[in-house]
Amino acid sequence: MLINKEIEKAINDQINAELYSAYLYLSMAAYFESENLKGFANWMQVQAKEEVEHAMKFYSYLNERGGRVFLSEIKKPETEWDSPLAVFEHVYEHEKGVTERIYKLVDLATSKNDHTTKSLLNWFVDEQVEEEASANEILEMLKRVKDSPNALFMLDSRLGGRK
Ligand code: MG
Repeated sequence: MLINKEIEKAINDQINAELYSAYLYLSMAAYFESENLKGFANWMQVQAKEEVEHAMKFYSYLNERGGRVFLSEIKKPETEWDSPLAVFEHVYEHEKGVTERIYKLVDLATSKNDHTTKSLLNWFVDEQVEEEASANEILEMLKRVKDSPNALFMLDSRLGGRK
């Protein structure tokens, strides 16, 4: 069954949103590089790659369903933050917004009785639980780090281990 045009459009918008997420996290990686926090920069680079994978999941799915991918302009991400804490506050808020987007897609797929799209979206619903939890975990650690350079250095080396 060919994909509904409204769902095709919504998935194209989601491809753009996932690529924007990748762009935002790469911008955060660049910020951390400039602050000499290589572990945080590594974490953000891995995160950015995951977002490209999310976009590609939607890309492949749309093609499988006989839809057409249309790429559009990706908006410019922020480039400056006041602190690592400010970055992770931003990440956490961003991921909550992504979750809202995914829920809206589920609502649309439900209203169109599109069970295949709902099945794909279930993966993203679960993924968002992890995304919010990991952003929040690091945010909470940063709140405890406060102004301790040693604690920040330890967290940086821990985040450097993410592959
Ligand atoms: Mg994503």
